Amino acid sequence: MRDFTLEKYGDLIRAILDAGYTTLTVRGCLTGNCRNMQRAVLRHDVDRRPVNALKMAELEASLGVAATYYFRYPATFVPEIIRQVHSLGHEVGYHYEVLAKAGGDYKKAIDLFARELAEFRTLCDVRTVCMHGSPLSRYDNRDLWKGYDFRDFGIEGEAYLSMAGKNLRYLTDTGRTWSGKHSLRDMMPDAEPVPVETTDDLVDWIESSGEEGLYLTVHPERWAVGEIEWVAGGVKDLLMNAGKMGVLAVMSISK
Ligand SMILES: [Zn+2]
Repeated sequence: MRDFTLEKYGDLIRAILDAGYTTLTVRGCLTGNCRNMQRAVLRHDVDRRPVNALKMAELEASLGVAATYYFRYPATFVPEIIRQVHSLGHEVGYHYEVLAKAGGDYKKAIDLFARELAEFRTLCDVRTVCMHGSPLSRYDNRDLWKGYDFRDFGIEGEAYLSMAGKNLRYLTDTGRTWSGKHSLRDMMPDAEPVPVETTDDLVDWIESSGEEGLYLTVHPERWAVGEIEWVAGGVKDLLMNAGKMGVLAVMSISK
């Protein structure tokens, strides 16, 4: 079976459940007492193709699992899909990128944050946010919180800043590999890469690692719903990874 398909994602979730993990949303992890149990936080950054997010949300619901879905504004802000994902029992959060949008202007960025958050809240309750990595921007959206406090907006946590130090092993599918080698910004500061590439490897690792806490970041658009989408998505990832390698090269030269 091909990797990075919805079917394969189902295998991954079943392996997590079979290994004895309790799955959690980001908010569930931040507000619940989950320190002393085997836990897996499920986070989805909906960067593109919101329809894929809905398919993934339906699959998870059918397996009795709730996750957190972070939608961008306006890139993946599709009210009907957001409402459906929420009604399936998932947490909906705001995937903000306002510092990049505002070109580094903090005042403009925080005003935009308030406005876009209000748009989400016309659809459902939003209590956690997550920065979008904005790979082609020189601004790191998380820096907004050096000047402001998200709690002033009724936000209980940020998916990077508030999850650090929770003793969770961070796993991300960036670049359609689990090795973490294509991640620019979307890593936890203290993340140690897992020694796997494919989802089958990851399943083996989950069955044997005995890790207490997992924090999975999965981009639904990378998990193909059908064969043609897998081929097209694979080519796009190759190009994106090539582009990021260019950015990495420039970053290391300018240091
Ligand atoms: Zn993103």
